[in-house]
Amino acid sequence: MNIAAIAANQVLDQIPVLVPEDLLLLNQIAFRLGARVVEEDLGGSEASIIIVPGNKAIITISTKVLSTERKRFSIAHELGHFQIHRNRIGFNLCSSSNIETFMGKPVDIEQEANQFASNFLLPERFVARIFSKSEPSMDLIGEVASSYEVSLTATALRFTEFTEEPIAVVLSRGGRIVFFKGAKAFTESDVFVNVGEAVGGNTMAGKLRNDQISGEGWRKVLASDWLRKGEYRRDARIQEWSVYMPRYDNILTLLWINEEIYDDEGFWGQ
Ligand SMILES: [Zn+2]
Repeated sequence: MNIAAIAANQVLDQIPVLVPEDLLLLNQIAFRLGARVVEEDLGGSEASIIIVPGNKAIITISTKVLSTERKRFSIAHELGHFQIHRNRIGFNLCSSSNIETFMGKPVDIEQEANQFASNFLLPERFVARIFSKSEPSMDLIGEVASSYEVSLTATALRFTEFTEEPIAVVLSRGGRIVFFKGAKAFTESDVFVNVGEAVGGNTMAGKLRNDQISGEGWRKVLASDWLRKGEYRRDARIQEWSVYMPRYDNILTLLWINEEIYDDEGFWGQ
């Protein structure tokens, strides 16, 4: 377990958070930890924390942050700084690109604060079983996201930490694949998502973006539409479930390798 996960669990025990609904009282939890949450104009930044004498803190969330999910993630991110970095920082200003992106180096303090937020808002003690035992779907992730008031993207990324299925979560922006996170079984399948490439026109993501289809659910696509060239069969297929968020031109995709993609003869035929 990393530092962020340990710190999040300590706080969950300390408060204590006994049922998921307790987590909805985030400002009160912050207050119990010694942090007051206020909303102010922060210019171009999204959130900030000031550590004040006596191990107290003031967390400021930008008034420009409108969604409840985003606000909660920002508060939890700042609580992460407070719990993990309080001796290293007196004041820290966090931009939108620092919060909820998961794209930086894991040792970066911003990434540590994001990991804290993810571990705190979607605690292992509550979500591990649901995520590891249920049939993977965007609906499942959506249900957890709405009951915990966490964004669909952050919940999907957390899902990859528990599912036993070979699933990857892929983020695309402006029609380009920008990031992916694979579950353990996906990473072990020896495949890599085409990060940096344009979203393929034959994928569900591409069709949703071009208004060619609507709807949801798993769809079969060619593995090569999403994955880098590899040893897998040329006609290998994987399952895709994408959701298009037109406001930011973002696409959130689940990829699921739920059938054999390598030649059966690969090993025995040699
Ligand atoms: Zn930060």
